[in-house]
Amino acid sequence: MGRVYNFSAGPAVLPEEVLKEAAAEMLNYNGTGMSVMEMSHRSKAYKEIIETAETDLRDLMHIPDNYKVLFLQGGASQQFAMIPMNLMKHGEADYIVTGQWAKKAYQEAQKYGKANKIASSEDRTFSYIPDVSDLPISENADYVYICENNTIYGTKYRELPDTKGKVLVSDVSSCFLSEPVDVSRYGVIYGGVQKNIGPAGVVIVIIREDLITDDVLDGTPTMLKYKTHADADSLYNTPPAYGIYICGKVFKWLKSKGGLGAMKEYNEKKAKILYDFLDTSRLFKGTVEKKDRSLMNVPFVTGDEELDAKFVKESQEAGLVNLKGHRTVGGMRASIYNAMPMEGVKALVEFMKKFEEENL
Ligand SMILES: *Cc1c(COP(=O)(O)O)cnc(C)c1O
Repeated sequence: MGRVYNFSAGPAVLPEEVLKEAAAEMLNYNGTGMSVMEMSHRSKAYKEIIETAETDLRDLMHIPDNYKVLFLQGGASQQFAMIPMNLMKHGEADYIVTGQWAKKAYQEAQKYGKANKIASSEDRTFSYIPDVSDLPISENADYVYICENNTIYGTKYRELPDTKGKVLVSDVSSCFLSEPVDVSRYGVIYGGVQKNIGPAGVVIVIIREDLITDDVLDGTPTMLKYKTHADADSLYNTPPAYGIYICGKVFKWLKSKGGLGAMKEYNEKKAKILYDFLDTSRLFKGTVEKKDRSLMNVPFVTGDEELDAKFVKESQEAGLVNLKGHRTVGGMRASIYNAMPMEGVKALVEFMKKFEEENL
């Protein structure tokens, strides 16, 4: 089998151009006589890689100068602890629970202080985003936390919550770089890169400088302090060097595609093809409230578990892989990140049409 259309939620599809470039540079990066995996993270060649990656990310997202970009490890899940450890100066924070990742972050925060669940969509299996225009924000909250794109359930915030002046912290793991964002509206934007940017092992944290302080929870390990990494430009210890190198290549690829505005347009077109089909299909249906649909993760069902399983099996055989829904929700899910080409989504819809004819 050649390359497949990979609809995995993460680790996920990467641009083929990037993989080819990395392959060509594998044995001898830029005349250094070695692979990026083999070089010192303190070398001149590597310094240039990480600095260029940061510059390109800043260009793509128009990151203001008073924000730091950190390349960290530990997955997005480690941020569930790092955020309260570093930001809960008054021991309290507000959480909006719109899915499993937000719930995990909320539960983790309870270990470090008072975490308030100020809104949730769990009553209808996280199939929508609650109204966040006038929430009971806690007076002492150090921040308001959201998960902006809910990877498992396929919902996305259209409007950011009114935090009533509190710092907004957002997990953007599964929508990172999928569309333009106004960084200045956030205190922290972070995500694991293995969904929409690069290989697993790198977490990018974009954080406003005034939030980076020594005033952290007692006992916070050195490695879990933002200040440690900010002061050292993400080179306090050995960073996930190869992963950052691939991220850098993806940033260049995104620039060559016209940046995040162009990506948004492309992603909207791709998602529309799939959602339009789901809205007219007699067999398949989307599981999410229309106004809250994600451009990146598209869950759908037939309503019959056996038929769902048959679909997953036959689509796999047709080279459309990883369409099985998350183990906690069942059904199907197509993740159509930046690197999923339009042709992949068209092939999926054609396959769904055929399956519908054969199975109705
Ligand atoms: C995948 C995911 C996570 C967890 O990421 P890890 O890097 O595996 O810890 C957290 N939040 C969101 C939105 C995700 O999609």
